[in-house]
Amino acid sequence: MTTATRGNLFILSSPSGAGKSSLIKALLEKHQDIKMSVSHTTRAPRPGENDGEHYHFVSEADFNALILSKDFFEWAKVFDNYYGTSKAAVEEQLNQGIDVFLDIDWQGAQQVRKLVPEVKTIFILPPSQQELANRLNGRGQDSQEVIASRMAQAKSESSHYNEFDYVLVNDDFDTTLAQLEHIVMAARMELSAQQSRHAALIRDLLR
Ligand code: GDP
Ligand code: ADP
Ligand code: 5GP
Repeated sequence: MTTATRGNLFILSSPSGAGKSSLIKALLEKHQDIKMSVSHTTRAPRPGENDGEHYHFVSEADFNALILSKDFFEWAKVFDNYYGTSKAAVEEQLNQGIDVFLDIDWQGAQQVRKLVPEVKTIFILPPSQQELANRLNGRGQDSQEVIASRMAQAKSESSHYNEFDYVLVNDDFDTTLAQLEHIVMAARMELSAQQSRHAALIRDLLR
């Protein structure tokens, strides 16, 4: 006999191009009980990005209105745009027992850690600087100017790796994906979750 347990909240951060979007996409395809929070952003959609799926694409005026109406769980200026996670994108899913991933930067991670101390945070490092440059170029969706600016910021973003609970080096994709799955599975087995999930069993065994 099991009872519904609140889902776990995870944060995945990395320098741009290290692979977090691809990893989360692959994780969601394999596990229907994991969802990703869709952020709001003021950046323009890339080719192939759909409103409401990859991001909610909004104007700066709309973004500011959401800040004022306290709709954001966290928000930050990343590179030259604003990005934010709405409360609605997270709370409802967690309450339904669904595990939720946030693909957010280190500034957002700092804010969420203060609000949800039990959040599990994961930082993805690329296997080398050269490979990071290859991936940003290979993705082929950003201008040379944007790529150069993201490479220039990779070092300062990477310097925050030691604020995270887990650090993964995304060399072989399938290996990193498996490591990510292990972190999710281990979190589901933590004491507090199991106590709530198996309350009746534990009561019975200890009677
Ligand atoms: P990516 O680096 O290729 O994933 O590029 P994106 O344009 O998808 O994301 C840009 C930056 O914004 C990344 O550092 C993300 O982690 C960050 N980001 C995305 N969504 C959120 C969010 O909801 N909140 C915060 N704080 N950061 C976010
Ligand atoms: P991020 O979301 O961190 O900016 P992406 O998921 O968009 O990164 O990945 C950047 C590029 O690198 C994409 O073209 C993706 O297909 C590729 N990529 C991701 N992980 C790997 C890997 N382990 N090996 C080779 N290429 C990868
Ligand atoms: P991109 O423009 O490549 O989609 O995202 C750039 C960076 O913004 C990534 O590091 C991504 O994780 C971060 N980001 C995306 N959405 C959010 C968000 O809602 N909040 C914060 N703080 N960062 C975000």
